[in-house]
Amino acid sequence: MVCFCFLVDQTKQVCKSKPAAGTCSRCGGGASVADMKTATRFCFVPFYWKNWKAIVCTFCGAILRSYR
Ligand SMILES: [Zn+2]
Repeated sequence: MVCFCFLVDQTKQVCKSKPAAGTCSRCGGGASVADMKTATRFCFVPFYWKNWKAIVCTFCGAILRSYR
């Protein structure tokens, strides 16, 4: 995989999010449940998508917990 790292990249996108109980362990900001979409691209052409849920911090963007 290392030799392909200059050709393959991943983009992470938050589709939608809603407030969740809990606070960020890093900055103490509010947490939210987000529907994430990860697109893996090869030579800038997306060829694989993955949808997953995560609890993210609305303030610093840290991923506190992810559900795959
Ligand atoms: Zn935070």
